[in-house]
Formats: sequence, C-alpha cells, structure tokens
Amino acid sequence: MATTDRHAVPLATLALAHALSAAERGLAVIPLSRTKLPALRSPHRDEPDPAPCHGECGRPGHGVYDATTDPRRIRDLFAAAPRATGYGIACGLPPHHLIGVDLDTKSGTDSSSALRELALRHLFTIPDTVVVATPSGGRHVWLSGPPDVVVPNSAGRLAPGIDIRGAGGYLVGPGSRTAQGVYSAVPGTAHLPVAPCPPALLRLLTPPPRVHHPSPAHAGQHGQGLVQFVLAAHEGQRNTRLFWAACRAYESDLGDSLTNALVEAATRTGLTEREARSTVASAARLTQRNDAEA
Ligand SMILES: [Zn+2]
Repeated sequence: MATTDRHAVPLATLALAHALSAAERGLAVIPLSRTKLPALRSPHRDEPDPAPCHGECGRPGHGVYDATTDPRRIRDLFAAAPRATGYGIACGLPPHHLIGVDLDTKSGTDSSSALRELALRHLFTIPDTVVVATPSGGRHVWLSGPPDVVVPNSAGRLAPGIDIRGAGGYLVGPGSRTAQGVYSAVPGTAHLPVAPCPPALLRLLTPPPRVHHPSPAHAGQHGQGLVQFVLAAHEGQRNTRLFWAACRAYESDLGDSLTNALVEAATRTGLTEREARSTVASAARLTQRNDAEA
C-alpha cells in the first residue's frame, strides 16, 4: 500500500530525491531540518572567534553557501545530514536567478489580494509559473531574475504579508516535510518553466539606482536607509544584508564615510565587529573591482 511504502522510505531519502530533481532543473539546493533551517551545523561552531567563512574552508555547514546543483555533492550533503526532512533552494543564483514571492497568510493579511492590487497599480501581471503551497496556507511564487540585478531579501516592504526571497535567501522546496507539514507544488504548476519576473515588479524589488555624487542631504538620507536596512536584519540575513548595504554604500561613494555606522549597526544585530569589518572590506574590494572593469 502506498502509505506503508512511503513510511518505509526514510524521510531523508525522500528529501534527497526531491532535492535531486530540483537540481536537475538547475536549482541549487541544501538539506533542511524540520525547522526549515539548514540541516548541517557550522564546522566553526566550536571556534571561539571564528573568521567569517562562506565555505572557503572546504567543509559543509555554511547554510545557503553550501547550495549546489551537483548531484554528487548533494548526496554528500544529505549523507552528512541524516535528519534532513526537506531541502532549501538558493535564490539569486544562475541560471534562474530565482526570486521567491512569499505570500503569507498567518498574520491575518490577505497577501494574495495585496499582490493583485500591486499588479493593478503598477501594470504588471503575474505570469504562469511554479507556485508552491506552504503548510500554513501560504504560497511561494517562483520567478526568475536577470543575471545583472541583485534582488535583496525583504519582509513586508512591498505590502504586509509579502516577503521577497532574493540573493542570499532560500525557499523551502516542494516535497519538503517540516514541523508544520508538507510543502507541495500547486497542481498544474510543478512542471512549468520558472517565468521571468515582470519588469515593473522587478523595479519594485530593487532599490533606487545608485547616485554617484550625492548632495550631502541626500547622502545622509541614503546612508541612514542603508544603516536601517542592516539594523532590520533577522538572524540568518545579517551578513548578506550588511554585504548588500556596504556594496550600495561604496557604489554611491559613501563607503568610507559609512563604514563605522554600518559596522556598528551590524554588531547590534549580533555579528562580531571582526565579521562585520571583514564583510564591509569584501564589499569594498568587489565594488572597486567592478568599477575598474566598467
Ligand atoms: Zn568554513
């Protein structure tokens, strides 16, 4: 009987099978635990003052940085995480540059009508694409982004109940089992291609264009916005938010004047000063390299 068979298969094996099929579609995955958090613990957890590491040490356990489409590496990740019951799909990575529109229903908000309203107001339509139903009655709408645009994670910025999963974020993949229940593709959407994000929606998801020579008043406002963005980070987004804000600061020629404020904001969210300074320094290097190439 089907039910008996299903229970005969360990949950980690089921999760691995789903993860492998997502990877076949070009989606990079990591094992997740029942709590929807990465199933592998950090290899640096016992180090007293760990240097920031996004997997450069070669060991697994760096959250979304472990994400891969390589079946052999996926099998290794799941072998190291026998208690995994689901998988996460990393957003923002090639080839799809996945953007997840997370429509929540928990807070009593009707996020689906909020999205329809936004679409009417900004003249876009949500294309036919993969939609995943969450155990709490929410929906994840999958969209693909252009390769040259970084969509940041945001919570409730577009409208109450609408969260955006972008660069550095991940979506719980269909077939995952969590403490709340099972995530599953909405019937008829599972095999659709991931549709491109409508340009009008993409503009709402990306911050205003960079300003090269800001007036002092504007610079102050822009800088304050970036500091607020870092302060509002949840655990798990702290480093990616800081990195994102620092890149924007350097692009706007505010980098050096804003470094201390960004580092201080990041330490208030729980990063160590050393981690924060190292992240800001990476942003400076990356931004300057891009400028040199341009
Ligand atoms: Zn490491």
